[in-house]
Amino acid sequence: MDTQLAVLGGGPGGYAAAFLAADLGMQVVLVDREARLGGVCLLRGCIPSKALLHVAKGMAEARHLADWGVRFGQPQIDLAAMRARKAKVIDTLTGGLKQLAAKRKVQLVRARATFESSQLLRLEPVDGQPLPDDRLHFQHCILAAGSVPTTIPGLTLDCPRVMDSTAALELPDVPESLLVVGGGYIGLELGTVYAALGSRVTVVEMTDGLLPGVDRDLVRPLHKALEKQFAAIHLNTKVAALKDLGHSIEAVFDGPVQPKTQRFGRVLVAVGRRPNSSNLGLENTRVSLDAKGFVQVDAQRRTTDPHIFAIGDVAGEPMLAHKATHEGKAAVEALAGHPVEFRPRAIPAVVFTDPEIAWAGLTELQAKQQGRKIETAVFPWGASGRAQAAGRTEGLTKWIFDPQSQRVLGCGIVGAGAGELIAEAVLAIELGCHLRDLAETIHPHPTLSESLGIAAELPLGMATDIFRPKR
Ligand code: FAD
Repeated sequence: MDTQLAVLGGGPGGYAAAFLAADLGMQVVLVDREARLGGVCLLRGCIPSKALLHVAKGMAEARHLADWGVRFGQPQIDLAAMRARKAKVIDTLTGGLKQLAAKRKVQLVRARATFESSQLLRLEPVDGQPLPDDRLHFQHCILAAGSVPTTIPGLTLDCPRVMDSTAALELPDVPESLLVVGGGYIGLELGTVYAALGSRVTVVEMTDGLLPGVDRDLVRPLHKALEKQFAAIHLNTKVAALKDLGHSIEAVFDGPVQPKTQRFGRVLVAVGRRPNSSNLGLENTRVSLDAKGFVQVDAQRRTTDPHIFAIGDVAGEPMLAHKATHEGKAAVEALAGHPVEFRPRAIPAVVFTDPEIAWAGLTELQAKQQGRKIETAVFPWGASGRAQAAGRTEGLTKWIFDPQSQRVLGCGIVGAGAGELIAEAVLAIELGCHLRDLAETIHPHPTLSESLGIAAELPLGMATDIFRPKR
């Protein structure tokens, strides 16, 4: 088989690249070992996790209504119905992608692909499915092979009670107790789901705080809320050993936690993800990897092999679906000869817990590491009418700005719906807005989006919703 463009991987990076390339008139073959398009994001990541978090959110909101004098009975949980509803969401979206591929005449090939050379992929059948050919020759390839969960050596038990995120999303049951190893976003999101469904959730994190790398003022309100949702959060703690007891898992902790040995119905290991760059035959090409295994790329997502581009999780942090999609589009535009570079000022990140945390652009922690002078403007949601009306006053909205020019460099939000609110901040940072632009932008009242405008008013001395004595 011969093609102008081969795309290896049908996740949010790969399918976006394939579809845009076809729209620009290229002949495209997309290879994925899965039967359905969508990659990790759609099949076992962003979408199934958010479908289950939707359930957790509904249950939490029903509980909060007790503060308004409305009480519901104990929830009755039908796990089979919940799994079926989640599967329907995935089926609808993957079905849509299949149709979009067909309309664009993108040829889909289900196979496991490895590079035999800089212009040749070897295709191996999956599940005995016959292949049109066992070789795919290409002029260019966009590598979008994604990432895989990191495992901790010595903590991998061949036992269904020890799950990775994929197994946890299958919702095999609601264990009486769940140990989540890793206080990153995947562990906290899935912990939130299981806690809502009734599991006693314990989180262990080896560093001194949840969500390492995220500004501490954003994490604090979440940590407080999770202390109520979870049975325990143990920081500075490692899991030294796991033992399968048949009906439960025994975990041995290394850290300031008592007792050192505890039993759990199930364990979720969510300690991060690594690029899926081994076992692809990249040694047969001129592609180079960095020390962490990410494919090295330039601003157009060209690798060190002139025939191969790389995008998405396999090509570097942050490992997020929207970053993969935008890189895919940049790579295709570069291939089409457009003057394009992937140099975003702000890639948003959202933790879909309750409350949510979202940030974009420069963080305070990064500014500190870079020795860069910044100032912050923080609006506490206690002063927001909408937050009060919803009983969600624990949030805050923070701008990070250049003290000289007052240009906004970053934004962090913690609170209900932070993931939706951050989009305005991304646009402001990308467009190089100044505090004054945000302060003079009229936000609808009463909404939480006002917090972005009011936070910007604070350093300008224009905020009337809050009193700050003059310095
Ligand atoms: P992937 O989506 O990983 O797709 C890679 C594809 O390549 C796969 O379909 C795979 O089958 C195929 N492939 C790999 N090797 C081969 C081979 N040799 N031959 C053939 N096919 C191959 N991101 C967000 O932005 N928001 C979220 O809310 C979010 N939630 C997440 C929740 C969970 C539980 C997880 C695990 C991830 C989450 N992510 C989220 C991350 C997101 O899923 C990834 O960043 C995104 O899927 C990366 O897209 P990609 O195109 O680089 O690769």
